[in-house]
Amino acid sequence: MTSTLITNIGTLVTNDPSHPGLLGTVEDAAVVIDGSVVTWTGRAAEAPAADRRFDADGRALLPGFVDSHAHLVFAGDRTAEFNARMSGQAYSAGGIRTTVAATRAASDEQLDAQVDRFVREMLRQGTTTVEVKSGYGLTVEDEARALRIAARHTPETTYLGAHVVAPEYADDPAGYVDLVTGKMLDACAPHARWVDVFCERGAFDGDQARAVLTAGIERGLIPRVHANQLSHGPGVQLAVELGAASADHCTHLTDADVAALAGSGTVATLLPGAEFSTRADYPDARRLLDAGATVALSTDCNPGSSFTSSMAFCIAVAVREMGMTPDEAVHAATAGGARALRRTDVGHIAPGARADLLLLDAPSPVHLAYRPGVPLTAAVWRAGIREV
Ligand SMILES: [Zn+2]
Repeated sequence: MTSTLITNIGTLVTNDPSHPGLLGTVEDAAVVIDGSVVTWTGRAAEAPAADRRFDADGRALLPGFVDSHAHLVFAGDRTAEFNARMSGQAYSAGGIRTTVAATRAASDEQLDAQVDRFVREMLRQGTTTVEVKSGYGLTVEDEARALRIAARHTPETTYLGAHVVAPEYADDPAGYVDLVTGKMLDACAPHARWVDVFCERGAFDGDQARAVLTAGIERGLIPRVHANQLSHGPGVQLAVELGAASADHCTHLTDADVAALAGSGTVATLLPGAEFSTRADYPDARRLLDAGATVALSTDCNPGSSFTSSMAFCIAVAVREMGMTPDEAVHAATAGGARALRRTDVGHIAPGARADLLLLDAPSPVHLAYRPGVPLTAAVWRAGIREV
């Protein structure tokens, strides 16, 4: 293996508690990577020799972003729906069915190319780990196909047969839940790590969501929940009760919901792209952080309600609109995402961590919020390989 010394780093974000501050920053720093892992971090003046040398030229080096919530296996286009919504119409969960029809009609090759396109688009923006959900097939074959394709691109695959009730079951939602917890689960479980459900009015109620998650858990999948996005509801409490890795959205929370998250290992994953793209009120990250909850930021990249793949955009919005400090937002987009995916090898930079690194074209991670909309990717390494 060949080792590389990345030196002359202006600010190194480690997320390692042995260094100062929430981000565990080191100034005038260096990192050594060997093969796919980090082998050394510290002050540049004390760095060991390596086979190769990369001069960071005073810029900031961060862990690659961990995008723990994305819907990338889809076909079709919802530009018109977005345009109409921005012209005054309200968002409802039913728009998902438009994408379902297009996704079913697409070939395997088209869907695979689509996922590949978005994973590369994310990589160019510093995202080195991404979770990908099914949920636009809604038949046994189409959900299993989505997960097979997703698994070619990421180990973080999520079975979301319970995204909305399939159109064929519009008059028989109980029958659809039986399918999702039965034959569809049988076909999908081998290709998935996680099980998810959209617990919301117009999608699945608390009892249905419990049935979906419990069936998934019995098949060895780990739960995560689309919870409390559009209204108050049982999603967050159910996520905490079932030991879910993450409750996602968390836009409408009672004090009891906040307390439940703060007292649990369930991460509150906030998806500001969804509120941005539906012109809705943002979740209150400050309230969750002050209560002691772990917060992650993620894109929710999907064609209907959040068609952004940019974690930097989510950071900027979280700082401007959700009460997060720049450090908190960067932490949530890296270490928070890793927690939401129960990954200990990513989201931080320390010896033994996977060498997933984002070199910013800026001297400080604060620039991610300070310079919104500006492309700041100077270089990206994924598992030690220079990708950008
Ligand atoms: Zn989602």
